[in-house]
Amino acid sequence: MTPAAPYRRTKIIATLGPATEREEMLVQLFRAGVDVVRLNMAHATHEWTRQVIRRIRVAAKTAGHEVAIMMDIKGPEIRTGDVDIPIELKAGEIFDFTVKPHAEGERTEEIRSVDVNYRNLVNDIKVGDTVLVDNGLIRLEVLEKYDARIRCRVLTSGELKSRRHINLPGVHVNLPSFTEKDRGDTLVGIEEGIDFVALSFVREAADVHQLRAFLQERGSRARIVAKIEDQSAIDHLDEIIRATDVLMVARGDLGIEIPLQELPVVQRRAVRTCLAIGRPVIIATHMLESMIGQPMPTRAEITDVANAVYEQADCVMLSGETTVGKYPLECVRVLDTIARRIEAEMAAEFAEPAVFLAERMKLLRSAVVMANELPNSALLCFTRRGITAAGLSAHRPVCAPILAVTDDLHTLRHLKMVRSVDPYLLHPFGDPEKTLARAVAALRQLGRIKAGDKLVVVSDVVTSEERRIDSIQLRTVE
Ligand code: PGA
Ligand code: MN
Repeated sequence: MTPAAPYRRTKIIATLGPATEREEMLVQLFRAGVDVVRLNMAHATHEWTRQVIRRIRVAAKTAGHEVAIMMDIKGPEIRTGDVDIPIELKAGEIFDFTVKPHAEGERTEEIRSVDVNYRNLVNDIKVGDTVLVDNGLIRLEVLEKYDARIRCRVLTSGELKSRRHINLPGVHVNLPSFTEKDRGDTLVGIEEGIDFVALSFVREAADVHQLRAFLQERGSRARIVAKIEDQSAIDHLDEIIRATDVLMVARGDLGIEIPLQELPVVQRRAVRTCLAIGRPVIIATHMLESMIGQPMPTRAEITDVANAVYEQADCVMLSGETTVGKYPLECVRVLDTIARRIEAEMAAEFAEPAVFLAERMKLLRSAVVMANELPNSALLCFTRRGITAAGLSAHRPVCAPILAVTDDLHTLRHLKMVRSVDPYLLHPFGDPEKTLARAVAALRQLGRIKAGDKLVVVSDVVTSEERRIDSIQLRTVE
């Protein structure tokens, strides 16, 4: 059997909820290997958000390493209103969706109905379109439209409970991408110092630009994660990837909004496009869905996780598994174990890294090529904004970890989402030679490197004319 790698390249994101929000649990999750926690604002109050962010920071200290925090804002989401008791919908039955204000004359006594929180539903939708409720479990077809009501036929039976999520495949919803609620949530996040904002239902690059302007005007350095969840995002995939800092393949909604056989095709295309321009990418949703209730994953889930690692995604994400699941820690361990095993396997098969045009990327490529040819070597870089570390990661080193030394805590946390990067804090940065010596001493003390190890170092050197130039050096740890 091939031994598992001593460290993991693929990063793990866990969503917090009732199953995981306690401090002791957070400490255990972080020790088990969670790199980033996600707060899903579709279900969070501001009070809870503030408390839990502080608790995360305390728990990370106890666990002995930093974790990054990603606030996931819900974007233009359509939901049904409250129902007193669940409505049993039967295939063939006629059912209405209504919007406020109601037009009383339109009511038909014997037809049941539920409110939808989106006034323009009637304008955006066409007769013949499909309405999907509750993650696609209930399927309806639009028969007729009135001023404040759409009449549908139920195609797939199901039980309609309160405040269920609605998907309208192929319909362009005229809701703003960054809603009032999103603004309020993001402001709280900025105040509490979150590291990433994930924007749901991104439809085009302009949505990302708008959020970036909002963050910049408020002096936030939070990075943007664009979640692709519908056809419009796929139509604008390349421009979205260029505009965003990180991409999330949000398979939950994506798998409902597009034909199911397209989902793996889109995942692969999204990951490849991200790899080609060096953009970190997250594979999200249903990775270990069955583990919400059971301690073991299905064989299909094991293979799905392995596939994400083989595709060289940066992160894999847990949602329901860690918010309400019975086995959150086991889920993290399963991801960790699979990732390490597959990464060890991949080290045996060399994959040609992407080619980038920028001159600096040529330098970083040479460093990665050198590390790939030296067994038991590590890449060591000094990175203020994380650009050098991310650039090395973009070349997907085969065996070497990327030990990224930074003097900036924000950068350190941002690098928690980047494949193969193991970030360390060291400040202040001073004379390059002395900083290198301090970093090597610190890494030795932590047991991260040992005497005899080869280091491919990417750092500045100062020339005799006092100019700083980039360098690649090969050093042996003494
Ligand atoms: P959500 O996004 O969990 O916020 O819906 C992820 C997804 O749709 O996959
Ligand atoms: Mn979603």
